[in-house]
Amino acid sequence: MKKTNISKMFGEYVCDDKILKKFTKRKHYNNYIKTKELGESLDPSTAKAIASAIKNWALSMGATHYTHWFMPLNSKTAEKQVSFVEINSKGEMIEELSEKALIKGEADASSFPNGGERNTFEARGYTIWDYTSPVFIKEDFNSNKVLYIPTAFCSYNGVALDEKTPLLRATQALTRECLRILKILGYNDAKKINFYTGIEQEYFLIKRENYKSRLDLNILNRTLLGAKTLKSQEIGSHYFGSIDSKVSEFMNEVDRRLWKMGVTAKHQHNEVAPCQYEFVPIYSPTNIACDQNQLIMETISKVAKKHGLKAIFEEKPFAGINGSGKHANWSIATDTGINLFDADLEDKDLFFTFFISMISAIDKFNSLIRVSASSRNNDLRLGGDEAPPSVVSVFASDYLLELYEKYSCNSNTKEKTVLLDTGVTSLPMPVRDFCDRNRTSPFTFSGNRFEFRMIGSNQSVTFPSTCVCVALSNILKEMADEVDKVSANKKEKLMGLVRKNFEKHKKIVFNGNGYDESWLKEAEKRGIPTFKDSLEAFDSLDDKTIIDAFESSKVLSKTELAMRKSVLVERYLETAILEAKTMIEMFNKSIFYNLESLIVSLKNSGDWKSLLKTMTTTRDNLSKNIETLSKLIELSRTEKDLSSLVREKILPTMKEIRNSYDSIEGYIPDRFMPFPNYNQILY
Ligand code: ADP
Ligand code: MG
Repeated sequence: MKKTNISKMFGEYVCDDKILKKFTKRKHYNNYIKTKELGESLDPSTAKAIASAIKNWALSMGATHYTHWFMPLNSKTAEKQVSFVEINSKGEMIEELSEKALIKGEADASSFPNGGERNTFEARGYTIWDYTSPVFIKEDFNSNKVLYIPTAFCSYNGVALDEKTPLLRATQALTRECLRILKILGYNDAKKINFYTGIEQEYFLIKRENYKSRLDLNILNRTLLGAKTLKSQEIGSHYFGSIDSKVSEFMNEVDRRLWKMGVTAKHQHNEVAPCQYEFVPIYSPTNIACDQNQLIMETISKVAKKHGLKAIFEEKPFAGINGSGKHANWSIATDTGINLFDADLEDKDLFFTFFISMISAIDKFNSLIRVSASSRNNDLRLGGDEAPPSVVSVFASDYLLELYEKYSCNSNTKEKTVLLDTGVTSLPMPVRDFCDRNRTSPFTFSGNRFEFRMIGSNQSVTFPSTCVCVALSNILKEMADEVDKVSANKKEKLMGLVRKNFEKHKKIVFNGNGYDESWLKEAEKRGIPTFKDSLEAFDSLDDKTIIDAFESSKVLSKTELAMRKSVLVERYLETAILEAKTMIEMFNKSIFYNLESLIVSLKNSGDWKSLLKTMTTTRDNLSKNIETLSKLIELSRTEKDLSSLVREKILPTMKEIRNSYDSIEGYIPDRFMPFPNYNQILY
């Protein structure tokens, strides 16, 4: 790739406000900026002018196609590319894109996951331009350019069929309730709230040939079998290690492509496990951060393929070594520039109101937050002594909580500044952070933001962000409604309610070691939900508190929420069944043949008697269990209670198969191995 500095290429393919200004009349441009600031919908003539500017820019950039780009309920993106080819009245080909086509598209809604509601919906679905996330151009490896228009996706009746619509509604609700609270606290000049997210994306990168040679990796992007690696990840010391030059070339191309599309690619480093990496952009408004996260994953995948590598985003591709997560760092700021989670804020009433409210929200909506990070693959990662535990708690620094205890009794309490002393006189002594880090907590406060570490690396951050908005809005709304009932001393009333919430919800705070077994017992004692798996967690979407919160904030109707639940459950079960089918095929098509050859060879040699015995017994055992698994899959086609069948029969049988296979893998010589093992893939 050509050498050029970042500022020249950054945002080259984004139709940002500067470009719109150039391509639009001033009147329309000013209208557009004003509307955007207020978060309102564009009036038709402004929308038409902006759409026309986008079209002219895209054509001037050499784009040949455009597409509405949306996020159906499958954590992925969807698109339908349409060329600019049109025929004019003289029968000649012209390049055209009507404003109407830019603003609204149509897609068959029944072909996307819709939670079994498609019979009651008309099949018609609409994609509607979301002007709050910038339009951009994507360029493929052959320099073809396509204009991408971020859109919401809903049914004929306006039912949200995607991830984006609820997030946009939830951000609206959060803005509404934050502004009410800010007013009570005397901040009348804030007109808008920005909900920010910074997403840390973990992933694995392996040689493409290894990926291709295993059916489980091909079908599921994770291994179903495989004995532990010889080297432990600690000895491997991959974390923050020097980056391999091949990987570095790959990362470089990823960064450059993303910079062009306006993604602020910032950090890239080796993660804890071998072949594991992390990619981090600078935080941005949540809607944009979520759109861009999809772009990041897609770019990483495509560039990896070009470099002969395979990027794996599944949460637990290899047993026995760390899985991958996606950490969402959330903060809320006013349009006047105040970060409401900034522990350094001088106005401690302001800080503690939002800080305590977030803690309360996570306690009140604990199971919803758990659901938002739940999936079959994330179940394999959570609680694995490396990832966050599967129980949601908050790490909130003893110091800040003590400060709040004192402060809420006496608002003259002052915080103390502690300097960091390394014992080396030549080193500077910076001010120490309010709190340490806690890697074992799923939800941590880190001085100016909350970080949710439970989300799986392959999940979209959109739904978790929606849930956290709904939860926090609910707490803020309850307080604002109460304050509305009094005519004087509103601020005192509010601070009293914050204190009450603190007392009620402080049980969610756990600053100890989340990996410790005693924490599970302690959590149960405190009444914090401890679900045994995601399937169990999904049921809490039927809880009245959760339904009411979604309905009253107008984020999701009861039907829309039920739709999501059934999509989540369906996906969980489908994944488990696909795993089982893949496992059966791996054994029937290759492993059994290889084992047989090994056994014959051992028999012929006459030596290795005990090994022969182990191999024969294990093979028989595996054969019996694969047959059982096949029968269970047959049964699953007609079984009414599929959840129980999967949880109680299919998954345990697969576990047994894995355990017996893994126990002999180390004794199978390379020439009898049907596919590369963990040592070969990871080291
Ligand atoms: P860590 O050291 O925890 O791995 P990283 O630097 O990898 O942190 O990622 C932290 C993420 O948090 C980045 O995306 C960063 O931009 C984001 N972040 C920093 N400050 C804020 C904030 N106030 N609000 C939201 N996100 C933030
Ligand atoms: Mg990081």
